[in-house]
Amino acid sequence: MVLIVDDNPNNIFSLKKLLESNDFEVDTALSGEEALKKALKNNYSLIILDVQMPDMDGFEVAEALSGYSKTKEIPILFLSAVSIEKKFITKGYKSGGKDYVTKPIDSDILLLKVKTFYNLQDNNLAMKKMQHNLELENKGRRELQAAMKSQIDHFHLMLQALPQIAFTLNENGEVDFVNCKWYQYSDSDHDFPETHPDDHDIQQEFEECRKRGKALELEIRIKNIKTKLYRYHLLRMSPVFEGGIVKNWVGTFTDIDDQKRIEKEKDEFLSIASHELKTPLTSIKAYTQLLDRKLKADNGSSELVYVEKTLDQIEKLNSLITDLLDISKIENGKLKINKKPENLESILQTAIETILHTSASNIKIDRHGNKPDFLIPVDKIRIEQVLINFLTNAIKYSPENHQIIVSTFTDEKEVRISVTDFGIGIPDFKQEYVFQKFYRVEESSLQFQGLGIGLYICSEIINQHHGTIGVSSELGEGSTFYFTLPLN
Ligand code: ADP
Repeated sequence: MVLIVDDNPNNIFSLKKLLESNDFEVDTALSGEEALKKALKNNYSLIILDVQMPDMDGFEVAEALSGYSKTKEIPILFLSAVSIEKKFITKGYKSGGKDYVTKPIDSDILLLKVKTFYNLQDNNLAMKKMQHNLELENKGRRELQAAMKSQIDHFHLMLQALPQIAFTLNENGEVDFVNCKWYQYSDSDHDFPETHPDDHDIQQEFEECRKRGKALELEIRIKNIKTKLYRYHLLRMSPVFEGGIVKNWVGTFTDIDDQKRIEKEKDEFLSIASHELKTPLTSIKAYTQLLDRKLKADNGSSELVYVEKTLDQIEKLNSLITDLLDISKIENGKLKINKKPENLESILQTAIETILHTSASNIKIDRHGNKPDFLIPVDKIRIEQVLINFLTNAIKYSPENHQIIVSTFTDEKEVRISVTDFGIGIPDFKQEYVFQKFYRVEESSLQFQGLGIGLYICSEIINQHHGTIGVSSELGEGSTFYFTLPLN
């Protein structure tokens, strides 16, 4: 809006007409005082100020306007019919005027000037607004940065307090923070600790995971700077995502050396104990079998039934010790698989017959699917062991139901064998653990005997055949354990 200040209403009238006919919004004041009051109250883009006015002349008004922050930037255009000498014009500019127009006015020139000042002021205001917004934005950014820095400091403080070696990496995979424990194993704050020559290379393993944006978990031996000894650590490196993109990584090395040593001692004990138990048990079994034969030859003496029961228990003990021996073989990497082309159907039938022979008579095993009557390279004894394990568990964990379904399915790549029972089932979140060593589902561990190693051995056998093993189950409804074997 333009403010016209003149003590002569006629002048105001004609100027107002001129500007309004050119789409300017116009306000008017008949004295310097009124002009000051209005300028402090409203927002004007230009003030056209008559120089000669009673009480307060135009120069005084201009000087007064330049004293207020609200009005000091408003451009002023002086109009004068009398004070046209150079000294007045100079005074006009000094008092804050942007231009000085003498009367009589050339309306075209005046309009051009008004338009120019008007636009200049508009642009000026827009720029000021933009600058103000930018300042606000900058302030916000500075505050955010300060908040983030304090969060990071807090996070680093937490990492310092951890008993583990802790570190972070930036999005380029470069170590950018390490806690004080780090320096027990590395003398540089950006190089990983030295690893045992037989173990994986951390940088290489990390790069693989970085490409896929996946977490890394590794058991690894790293060298202590002071003692020069390698200690087993569990290395974990997890990506931190922000908007679907990996922003940085957080890593820890947890010392598991003592745990590893105890585990090794336990495995050694298991291995020695099962070997030592096996030898006398083999003799006991041999002598009991001799006794069994003798009593049978004596035409069924009444003690025969006890001997048969003893033989059953010896068989159970034998299979327990064999499982324990298998565990120590797996730990030492000595579980050997001798693959030869074998007929899978006949392995399956042998396993089913063994189970039917040794279990209660009311067990019913149904077959579904096409029979795998073809040769496939497997270790016959070991695959039979897996099947017997699945079937024994199906019977053991279904005390109320004696039906079992064995399904077979073959496609061009693999054969899949599954054993379904209608027993107690396994809770959802526990299913993934049943193939772990010594794992038993708590709910069933008291009611049913077992060591929790059968399925662990099965998964090892199937892994060595490059197959897959798994379970699907519903609590109270039953379970289906399956494995697949590749055809070539
Ligand atoms: P074990 O039977 O000697 O405990 P396994 O390794 O064969 O050891 O099985 C591990 C655990 O998995 C068992 O303790 C049991 O809790 C669960 N499990 C295995 N098979 C079944 C099944 N068919 N139904 C329900 N639970 C089962």
